Amino acid sequence: MAQKWDVVIIGGGLAGFVAANYLAKRNLSILVLEKGKKVGGRARTDQIHEQYFNLGPHALSKKGKAMAILEELTIQVPGKSPKLGGVLVKEHLEYSAPFTPSGLLTTNLLNWKDRIEWANVLIKVISVNTKKLTTWTFEQWVQQTTESANIQSLLYLLGRLATYCHAPDQASAKIIVSHLKTVLNGVLYLDHGWQTIIDQLHNKAVVSGVQIETHKRVKHIAPLEQDSFKLVLSHDEEVFGKYVICTTGPYELQHMLGKKSNFPFTKMKPVKGATFDIALTQLPNPKKLFAMDINHPLYFSVHSNYARLSADAKNAVMHVFKYHHPDETINAKKVRDELEQFLEKIQPGWKNYEITSRFIPQITVNQRLPQIGDEKMLESCKRGIPGLYIAGDWASPDFILAEGAVSSAKQAAEDIMKKEKS
Ligand SMILES: Cc1cc2nc3c(=O)[nH]c(=O)nc-3n(C[C@H](O)[C@H](O)[C@H](O)COP(=O)(O)OP(=O)(O)OC[C@H]3O[C@@H](n4cnc5c(N)ncnc54)[C@H](O)[C@@H]3O)c2cc1C
Repeated sequence: MAQKWDVVIIGGGLAGFVAANYLAKRNLSILVLEKGKKVGGRARTDQIHEQYFNLGPHALSKKGKAMAILEELTIQVPGKSPKLGGVLVKEHLEYSAPFTPSGLLTTNLLNWKDRIEWANVLIKVISVNTKKLTTWTFEQWVQQTTESANIQSLLYLLGRLATYCHAPDQASAKIIVSHLKTVLNGVLYLDHGWQTIIDQLHNKAVVSGVQIETHKRVKHIAPLEQDSFKLVLSHDEEVFGKYVICTTGPYELQHMLGKKSNFPFTKMKPVKGATFDIALTQLPNPKKLFAMDINHPLYFSVHSNYARLSADAKNAVMHVFKYHHPDETINAKKVRDELEQFLEKIQPGWKNYEITSRFIPQITVNQRLPQIGDEKMLESCKRGIPGLYIAGDWASPDFILAEGAVSSAKQAAEDIMKKEKS
């Protein structure tokens, strides 16, 4: 007879492992099912030719919710903070980024009037009460904050950098600005990539008795009558659980629930981007470590300047990234050319030093573009099926990215523990 678990967690990414670690503190039997052959989800790091490649540029906010929860779980996060300096590219010209006091003083991007206004706008970002922005889009907030087109472009750029969202007219100001505030407090690039976090969470879960199974895709979730679930896996294997935490994307969840599900997911759009991850034996221009384009949604950063990302500390591991608009149709070849040309501008002749690279034209960075009114929709998902809990970077009303994944996972675990006590 199939074993019945107290909690079955679908997905072995950040959210799945954070939930498992909290639940493991109680006397509950826990099973994590991961469809991939490796755990980690989008927080995994691949070792390619002895270089550590995160799935695109990953930075952990030092003062964010995720960091606080990881600390609570005694997870170490070795790494260093990148400097906020670097260059901004505008119509083939490069300017110092006005994100540090010296950048602000020296940049030719802004005239003196704009420099003073930009300094005031940054103070406003840090001090704004984001709870008052629930009914605003990011675009509306930016336009209300400054009339200067230059400064508006800088705010959009920082918004992209902090949240990967490239749709200011659709995105919620509350979420974008609150993440921006957190990111301005500093981020970390992690030694050996985000796998460092996953490995520790995984090992702690195993030691606490959590059962983790890879290569197990859940095909179907069937709520049973007595407050429990039957999960059907590939090869029609069956697993039973009293509670289920689902950390997959919303559409995968809908698919697993089948026609019976009336979750209001249709409105949700993912946040996507293209990533070009590269390792070079050396940087053609060692002084250029960070760049963004003002008018095009492009990013470049040398992560290995701050984090240990290859066996040979001399190698340079970097990410070039394009933020996709949610309604855009992607032409992979065009996007690759765009990223390579941007890299050529910043690091001319980089191809001569290439060790290895990886191009992913379309990757989901966050499962949900945060929009006005999402709170209500998520609340009704939460109440959808008793005993089924959702977690993941789309499942929190207040946070996205790792902050959303980790905080919604802790919340799901706490909700189950509360239910068990009552
Ligand atoms: C390019 C890029 C850059 C990013 N940069 C940052 C950053 O700088 N800062 C930040 O905070 N966040 C960043 N993120 C986001 C962060 O990586 C994610 O938010 C986080 O890893 C999501 O974790 P999760 O557990 O919610 O989802 P996932 O990692 O997607 O985990 C879900 C897991 O469920 C598994 N699964 C799916 N369906 C099934 C099924 N049917 N059966 C069994 N298993 C299933 C999947 O294989 C996956 O392992 C970035 C992401 C990307 C892609």
